[in-house]
Amino acid sequence: MAITAPESTGTVTLTIDGREVTAPEGATIWQAAKAAGIDIPVLCHDERFDPVGVCRMCVVDVGAPAFAASCVRACENGMQVKTDSPELERSRTTLTKLLISDQPPRERDPKQTTTGDNELLALADRYGVARETAGLPCGSGRGIDLSSPVIAVDHDACILCDRCTRACDDIQGNDVIGRSGKGYTTHIAFDLSDPMGASSCVSCGECVAACPTGALTNKPIRNIPIRPRTELDAVDTVCPYCGVGCALTYYVDRDRGAIAYAEGREQPGSHGRLCVKGRYGWDYAASPQRLTVPLIRREASYPKGALSADVRGDMAAAGEANGHGQADDGGPGAKRGGGKRGRKPGGLVDYAEVLPHFREATWEEALDLVARRLTEIYAAGGPAAIAGFGSAKCSNEEAYLFQKLIRTGFHTNNVDHCTRLCHASSVAALFEGIGSGAVSTTFGDVINAEVAIVTGSNSTANHPVASSFFKQARRNGTTIIYVDPRADRMADHADIYCQLKPGTDVAFYNGVMHEVIRLGLTDDDFIARRTSNYEALKQTVADYPPERAEQITGVPADVIRRVARAWGRAKSGIIFWGMGISQHTTGTDNARCLIAMCSITGNVGKPGAGLHPLRGQNNVQGASDMGLIPMFYPDYQKADDPGVKARFEQAWGSTDLDPKRGLTVTEIIGSALKGGVRGMYMLGENPFLSDPNINKVRKALAALEFLVVQDIFLTETAEFADVVLPASSYMEKDGTYTNTDRRVQRGRKVLDPPGQARVDWEVVQDIANRIGLDWHYTSSRQVFEEMVSVIPSYKNLTYDNLGLTGKLYPNPDPEHSDGTVVMFTEKFNTNDGLAHLVPAEWLPARELPNAEYPFVLNTGRMLEHWHTGSMTRRSYALDAIAPTAQVFIHPDDAAELGLEDGDLARVSSRRGVIELAVKVSHREARGNCFVPFHFREAAANLLTTDEIDPVGKIPEYKFCAVRIEKADG
Ligand code: SF4
Ligand code: SF4
Repeated sequence: MAITAPESTGTVTLTIDGREVTAPEGATIWQAAKAAGIDIPVLCHDERFDPVGVCRMCVVDVGAPAFAASCVRACENGMQVKTDSPELERSRTTLTKLLISDQPPRERDPKQTTTGDNELLALADRYGVARETAGLPCGSGRGIDLSSPVIAVDHDACILCDRCTRACDDIQGNDVIGRSGKGYTTHIAFDLSDPMGASSCVSCGECVAACPTGALTNKPIRNIPIRPRTELDAVDTVCPYCGVGCALTYYVDRDRGAIAYAEGREQPGSHGRLCVKGRYGWDYAASPQRLTVPLIRREASYPKGALSADVRGDMAAAGEANGHGQADDGGPGAKRGGGKRGRKPGGLVDYAEVLPHFREATWEEALDLVARRLTEIYAAGGPAAIAGFGSAKCSNEEAYLFQKLIRTGFHTNNVDHCTRLCHASSVAALFEGIGSGAVSTTFGDVINAEVAIVTGSNSTANHPVASSFFKQARRNGTTIIYVDPRADRMADHADIYCQLKPGTDVAFYNGVMHEVIRLGLTDDDFIARRTSNYEALKQTVADYPPERAEQITGVPADVIRRVARAWGRAKSGIIFWGMGISQHTTGTDNARCLIAMCSITGNVGKPGAGLHPLRGQNNVQGASDMGLIPMFYPDYQKADDPGVKARFEQAWGSTDLDPKRGLTVTEIIGSALKGGVRGMYMLGENPFLSDPNINKVRKALAALEFLVVQDIFLTETAEFADVVLPASSYMEKDGTYTNTDRRVQRGRKVLDPPGQARVDWEVVQDIANRIGLDWHYTSSRQVFEEMVSVIPSYKNLTYDNLGLTGKLYPNPDPEHSDGTVVMFTEKFNTNDGLAHLVPAEWLPARELPNAEYPFVLNTGRMLEHWHTGSMTRRSYALDAIAPTAQVFIHPDDAAELGLEDGDLARVSSRRGVIELAVKVSHREARGNCFVPFHFREAAANLLTTDEIDPVGKIPEYKFCAVRIEKADG
């Protein structure tokens, strides 16, 4: 935990090295000295942790018989402090000599490459102490542990300062590291002294970042050595994975044209923290499978269809085609997977199987063909024949230009992206309820909450750094209520855990609200002044006493009452939710209940209170803000409002923009099947794996007359393409990205694109100009300026004032303020300024289990992987940690089915069948199973239903009926 002076009523004045220094009451001598620019060396201390004062390196002379540890000793009025007397320097020299005496030789320490990284070696240099002169044996003999794919542990170099333990416990809340042994054999231990790679460590690397010696070091990735910082370029940017948007710095080896390692950096949201994906998952950009040249489908490869065995759905053939050898992603012809019990072959596209169906082309030829074919289809079929899927991985500027191209070039609002698949229902409910689709407060505001409900969110896997703030808040006194069918790691950190049955959220929250109202715990003043339709809500929830809610949800009535009391009595309460809420046919109703929960208790518009749908992709908030959705122009201005249409026609110099809403992702797939949408531009989306009911998607993609895919790899979707354009990865371009908190941050170019791959917005512009638009953007900065001019929420933001840490929007004064944390302090964004309460009745899921399909399937993400796996499965570290598709099932279910860990299981639904390894997991409830959707060789969406929420149009990824049985493999 960050050390801050306790609530101070005043200041103290003391003298440090002869200088009068004033410090807040309660500040430590070390803090006061640092503020005054006086350096006191430390080893066990790190400002982010509670001080322990064990290493004695920071001792100072306060005139007492013994030196005082300045990291723990508080300042006092009139205190006379010396920090650098000869006696103190002698003490530090002796201490360093003792510590260095049993350190391993420098050449064994990866951190020795820069003395700034190894603080102990830096002190040895500062005090002129060399290990060799001490004449003691090398190392303590406690050994080296190389079992983690990403972290090397040299116990001999450990000085037992406990920085790693505090980083793991206090910062990340993972509680993995302790101590084991006695006396000289004492060493840091992972769990019960397990090898690190076999422990519950989640490879966040926070301990490595904290370690002041060479005891915990990053292993080189893709053989790029970790060289001195002075020999590397530091590029400050943002993590490309999830909506948390952690700030980081890549250290780039320019000689090798590659990233050597990543470090978290300070930013008001993430505070220097990273998870395994951010810290170790960036090398996908260097994969030999990157597309480097435009490709055109060969004549012989028509009629169109899937090109690889995996994508055709031919599992037996996939086994033969991909073989069973362990290999890396070695480019065209790479073989993957197999070998282990339960591991199905597959993993990455086999370029030897797919590439021969395409021929290389010049950019000119490929772009001309794209423009000609899309124009022809538009001419023949009109606006309804064209659709575009943009990407929430691309920048705001790219999302903005992409939707502008589809809208002004083809006069259709048929443009959407993966927001439809993650939080479309949340956004629909939020717009209806409070007039805004963005979060009402930041995830860091949890520290001010008395109670936080985390619901339908596997946040330790999907938003790991945000979850570290939840865990930290709990240690600070916040009550955490976790509501989810899966007892994810967050359940281990919850005060109350409610394992409700899948698809029963409405009944659960109606039950809680019933009890809140019955106990008189509502905020009547807030309800009267700031909400509408309360009586209707009250009437509906009256039918959900806790006993009835228990019958539906399986959560005991007493627990529902406990939740209601905790929530209703809290002075500040905040709700975080994920796709367990949104990805249901009742997703909008689920979110309506959460809005009502906050509104009837006055928990919006004040610190520590509010509504926070945790956004999935790094730029899904931004892409939505940019209008990459069929019902809204930029800034959620309604597409079917004639005034809005006229405004954008004027702003864009366009005529006849589409006057009606366009089709959503799932509707576009349905339309393509029926011959409606004929031509598609797919920028960075991979619907083959991400959309529900793959068999239907396969037919739809094959039915398109023309498909252009712009991506960094030959994705499963690209197998249906007529033209494939090699795109730039996140690392290879400048742009802005908006995180789940509404923080707009700049991503900076780290590497050059490989081969002929190009920056995405430039490609979009080239197509725009070829279809008759007249665009002349010269930089993403210029696009940003235009974008801000049509997005009132982004008003005042500029590339320059975003700085290194970005800014929250709305922001009236970005030069001096980080932006608005708490929204709706006075009124909501609805037409009357009130929160519109919408009661919801519980409805069962559309496809319930039966004798033939007795299990409920839940799909989602794993910590180590991302979406369709195209990035993470090409990351050495992430693939090494989690190489295998698995179905997670309860131990009793596994026993009944005769399945053990690692066995191969066949999971079937009414739509398809997959085979994958069994993972027996106490985190699942009986009768339920969980399958991550990242694995092409066992694609979860072959099983899922394409039933959608009627309002948000989001698919029901979290519920369908399946059968599980032992496979013969
Ligand atoms: S990598 Fe993270 S989880 Fe693992 S021991 Fe270090 S701090 Fe703990
Ligand atoms: S929490 Fe999200 S943004 Fe942060 S490092 Fe992990 S994946 Fe990246």
